[in-house]
Amino acid sequence: MIKTNNENDWNNWRWQLQNRITSLEELREYIHLTNEEIKYFKDVSEEYPFAVTPYYLSLVKDPKDLKDPIRLQIVPSLLEIDPVAQKNSHPNALNEEGFIKGLTHRYEDRALISVTSYCGVYCRHCMRKRIFKEGTHAIPKELLDIYFDYIKSHKNIKDVLISGGDPLTLDNERLKYILDNLSSIEHLEVIRIGSRVIVTLPQRLYDEDLLDILSKYDKLWINTHFNHPNEITKESKEAVLRLLKAGIPVNNQAVLLKDVNDEKETILELMRKLLSIKVKPQYLFHCDPITGAIHFKTSIEKGLEIMDYLRGRLSGFGIPTYAIDLPGGKGKVPLTPSHFKKLGNGYEFIAFDKSVVIIEE
Ligand SMILES: *Cc1c(COP(=O)(O)O)cnc(C)c1O
Ligand code: SF4
Repeated sequence: MIKTNNENDWNNWRWQLQNRITSLEELREYIHLTNEEIKYFKDVSEEYPFAVTPYYLSLVKDPKDLKDPIRLQIVPSLLEIDPVAQKNSHPNALNEEGFIKGLTHRYEDRALISVTSYCGVYCRHCMRKRIFKEGTHAIPKELLDIYFDYIKSHKNIKDVLISGGDPLTLDNERLKYILDNLSSIEHLEVIRIGSRVIVTLPQRLYDEDLLDILSKYDKLWINTHFNHPNEITKESKEAVLRLLKAGIPVNNQAVLLKDVNDEKETILELMRKLLSIKVKPQYLFHCDPITGAIHFKTSIEKGLEIMDYLRGRLSGFGIPTYAIDLPGGKGKVPLTPSHFKKLGNGYEFIAFDKSVVIIEE
């Protein structure tokens, strides 16, 4: 175990956060870094902070493997600040945030609120990396109250996404305040928390008090963010199980990332393993052109190929929707490999075994 031999410490989320690895010197004790990574660590991490929990760092299998999928998600890379690598990117490509800071009301029935800009681990591919530097642990209650008033006065909002940063890094009292306020709004039918602690800090869900609180809200769902089969461990399985026992369904939103998970077999294994711990794969997102993260982008063709591969190899409910979020706040669009075309007098279908079937209409 990194930094301790004491299992109680390891299983304590506060210990995990207090003992995050945040400096070059510490990181070098655990994994091999290239000369370039060492040389530019300061420049990159000044722009986009670096932090990783001992737990998530322990998922790096071979300290010498430069292509380890966990390593790629946590180690600052020169590409993040290289103007050529970041060509055609934008810090806020999806044009989040409306006239209230931290609140995005894009779809008529759904609103997204940001309740912290703090995360246990700063993922290098994060679409919100523009807010890392703000580093505010919790936004002020006055601003939360403004969100609640806005949602109360917009009766068309049925679904609220609590986002950040990572909302489940907040303390229990603050989470209770947020959830009490939202669940008292009658026209809300769904409350979703978007959190990666299941993946990067599953010990957060070992906190019985938190589970007691979460179990009180009958509209609550959790969206999490597994990207690679190596992230599915006995700890993350335990975290999911505790949530399910508290009555909270868990959906996954993965992002297709170059070298991390852009192989057919990797995505197939990820979805399979998610089902095995009872997490429903909801989305596989095409990587957004975010400044500091665009170098993780793959081609849409590659994504479609992977989706095509899943068909017939995985239970239907294990197949996520592959989607792209359009720049400028134009919303999500599903990307589906085409398996049929219209003929003059019917349709031609391509079956999962690639045979062609024609149905006349
Ligand atoms: C993605 C998103 C949502 C939720 O969309 P779903 O498809 O329902 O998950 C809501 N608001 C904003 C601004 C979003 O980006
Ligand atoms: S946990 Fe989520 S919000 Fe936080 S850095 Fe990772 S991807 Fe971004």
